[in-house]
Amino acid sequence: MLAPALERTILQQKINSLKKEKNAVILAHYYQEPAIQEVADFIGDSLELSKKAAESTADIIVFAGVHFMAETAKILNPSKKVILPDMQAGCSLAESCPPEAFKKLKAQYPDHVVVTYINCSAEIKAMSDLVCTSSNAEKIINSIPAEKQIIFAPDKNLGKYLIQKTGRQMLLWDGSCIVHEAFSLDKLLQLFREHPKARIIAHPESEPQVLKVANYIGSTSGMLDHVKNSDHNIFIVATEAGILHQMQKEVPWKTLIPAPAKEDNTCACSECAFMKLNTLQKLYTCLEKEAPEISFSEGIMEQALVPIQRMLQLS
Ligand code: SF4
Repeated sequence: MLAPALERTILQQKINSLKKEKNAVILAHYYQEPAIQEVADFIGDSLELSKKAAESTADIIVFAGVHFMAETAKILNPSKKVILPDMQAGCSLAESCPPEAFKKLKAQYPDHVVVTYINCSAEIKAMSDLVCTSSNAEKIINSIPAEKQIIFAPDKNLGKYLIQKTGRQMLLWDGSCIVHEAFSLDKLLQLFREHPKARIIAHPESEPQVLKVANYIGSTSGMLDHVKNSDHNIFIVATEAGILHQMQKEVPWKTLIPAPAKEDNTCACSECAFMKLNTLQKLYTCLEKEAPEISFSEGIMEQALVPIQRMLQLS
């Protein structure tokens, strides 16, 4: 039996040669496990990865992330094969906004501009005027004429944060991310007492009480840039713990502490169980078999493309 480290290296070599042979590109989200990030051609947050997907010249896009991200890559590349290592890699936030219920809400407010956070299904995007990510949400909201009313979905925490930042009243969908709602304020403050020189940095999907104590609030890539450019050396990081791998690589001399979750778990931090459904082995199998592949019911892809393209033009 091979040692786990050797097994991992062999698998990574096999993935790299399959990638060349099939003219495939691997896009990996920051929340993927380190072994996957190491074989990725691009690592990024939702906005960066959608831009990379739009520019790609590969025949196959392997999306190491969750289902809605792979869907976005397919919408931007209809003629390419987009595959996802595990089709069960969903997202609690996307699932908190079922299309039928959202359609009913939209019908009640026909004059409202519909802005949706990219963490939603293609059906929801198809019902939207504009899509945004946490990196460009403020800019997207500010691009809407002041006299227009807005529906914002699905993340209520990001929505509340944007109301505060832009001063625009918005009708919010009551959705949230289980990972970003799992942080314990009490444990976070206790951790801060133990590290009084630390800066608390948080993703805007976190609950308002966590954002209130944060020194910096930003998207995953915004947090990464902040840690790189800041004069401070200790950070408590309130987002999915997978980002710590890339952050630590960029600033090996800085101390990065994952913000603690309410529930006790093995790593005492918040991990997205959906993101972690993808493994190196599943990535290899999916590239070898070129499956499972992302596909849509008719019409959805074309309708969902419009608000995504508007976002890319504005960002
Ligand atoms: S971290 Fe939250 S928003 Fe991101 S994929 Fe996981 S459940 Fe969805």
